[in-house]
Amino acid sequence: MAANHPALTTHLDEQWRDIHFANDEVRCTRYEVTPQAGTLHGLLAEVGGAVRAVVAEAFATGQPLRVPGGRWSLSTIGKPRGSMLDLGNYRSIGAVMPQWLTPQYAALSAQSGVGATLIAAGMTVNVVNRELAKAGRALKTSGASDGQTFAGAIATGTHGADLKVGALHDTVLAVHLVVSPTRSVLIQPAVGALNGEAASTLASWFGMPCDLLSDDQLFRAVKVHLGSLGVVLNVVVETVPLYYLDRERTAHRDGASWRAVLTSRNPKNANGLHSADPDYLQFIVNPYVPSPETDPRAWMISMRKVPYTGQVGVITTPTESSLKSDLADFLPALVTFYQQNIELPGNPVLRLVTSSQLKKIYGANASSTSALPGAMFGPPDFLGIDFNPVRGASAEYVFDATQARLGVETILDTLASQLAAAQHQYLGGIGIRFVKGSNGWLAPNAKAMNCFVELQSLHTQELPAIHAAIGAALSQAGVPYGGHWGQWFMNTPQVVERWWGANAVQSWKAARADLLPTVAARDIFASPILTGAGLG
Ligand SMILES: Cc1cc2nc3c(=O)[nH]c(=O)nc-3n(C[C@H](O)[C@H](O)[C@H](O)COP(=O)(O)OP(=O)(O)OC[C@H]3O[C@@H](n4cnc5c(N)ncnc54)[C@H](O)[C@@H]3O)c2cc1C
Repeated sequence: MAANHPALTTHLDEQWRDIHFANDEVRCTRYEVTPQAGTLHGLLAEVGGAVRAVVAEAFATGQPLRVPGGRWSLSTIGKPRGSMLDLGNYRSIGAVMPQWLTPQYAALSAQSGVGATLIAAGMTVNVVNRELAKAGRALKTSGASDGQTFAGAIATGTHGADLKVGALHDTVLAVHLVVSPTRSVLIQPAVGALNGEAASTLASWFGMPCDLLSDDQLFRAVKVHLGSLGVVLNVVVETVPLYYLDRERTAHRDGASWRAVLTSRNPKNANGLHSADPDYLQFIVNPYVPSPETDPRAWMISMRKVPYTGQVGVITTPTESSLKSDLADFLPALVTFYQQNIELPGNPVLRLVTSSQLKKIYGANASSTSALPGAMFGPPDFLGIDFNPVRGASAEYVFDATQARLGVETILDTLASQLAAAQHQYLGGIGIRFVKGSNGWLAPNAKAMNCFVELQSLHTQELPAIHAAIGAALSQAGVPYGGHWGQWFMNTPQVVERWWGANAVQSWKAARADLLPTVAARDIFASPILTGAGLG
């Protein structure tokens, strides 16, 4: 039996791949929602009908159903096991209607300028940024680049380096979730921004009953949903008046000055160009001491948010010069050299290439840039690169920011000892970002302030041993850590229990059982990652 609806296009035997080719391909049916109506209300009704038809088929057959986002996750979180429901053509964004807001939120909005924006869940952050900028508004934070879909990004806990806001899921006010062919829910905190009118309007727009659930336990679960709580159809996000980011980047030799900032989070002490109280703090680090040692080992990047009123010199669309905040710009050069059959293991030429690429991209001198969020965090150079015959890899460890220096130095020491003792050479860069805490049950930013260390590299033969050594070294150093849900899988049941704790795990599972009360329903939406993490 196949799902059938005029606003569905069925693609049989379609290939699914993540963009890094980290997972093996899967072939399955992709149902593409293809609304045709000329009016907004007609379009919403078509989307609702098409989604209902696909979910009804899954419930009738017991076939697993997965919604593909941008396919930017490397873990198994997005890997389909049955069919796919593609929401990519459903694009709609706008301020929520004033009559949806509680008087308290309306007052807050009038006083502070924050606002509630309704976003179709399958829209990419790139498009959201552009649409918001046109309306003079912005997301409060995002990841370092913008090809993720909104629902896909919050599924895994996508974050930037925001010291004051948190991660993308911490800007969510409510999630509109389809949990069966006959039920959708609008989940918000117990004291939420929305009233019953929001749910009844969504019900009439999408032709599907919708219950408003103002419940902290459920909301904390759906913030980082792992793609396993149902189909996220819309997200209500808190946006702010448009701002630009004033970015300072400084280069530092190996030594104590930048390392001290891991503890203080005050970059001004290491270089007076930075603010003592930035909104955003990040480091790019060479995994090995460069040769010559006078070359930079680390780059410190801080940003401040400034209200945008059309200031001259602010970059408004992505350009080469605005896009150098993230490691994603660095990997392609390494791929080219690696592909020239330079002999491993431990070849020092590859370390020289790493150092010279880092220096070429991030510079030996300080630099300042001002850009709108959509320009600062635009598309990476990365996309479209042919990684053959290697694969890309990215692993992200998170630990309590109070242990940032210990954790980072443990990782750097482990990379050095892996090379010295076993010729295991890491071919990549290191990004360090600080992110304020979240109350999402499975949010990776689980502590009051968090230090994320991302190891973005080529997937060489040595890499699993290197990551196993890092995990063991962190544990031995007494640094509990968790992993990003969309990257290299490290969230074993032991890691999950140690980083998030038994209460968070039980609470997330209880919320899942509440939203999807039968085993069959839970299985339809189960991500393959749940089993490995002990969450199934
Ligand atoms: C170049 C690059 C840069 C990156 N930068 C960052 C960064 O700066 N910070 C960071 O934290 N991470 C970063 N990541 C990781 C990335 O943000 C996450 O993996 C993110 O989850 C990917 O979103 P996606 O839309 O591609 O979702 P996918 O990877 O396609 O899917 C993720 C999960 O969401 C589910 N899902 C998607 N849409 C829905 C829906 N509508 N309803 C229900 N479930 C849904 C999928 O089924 C899957 O389980 C980066 C990755 C890449 C490749």
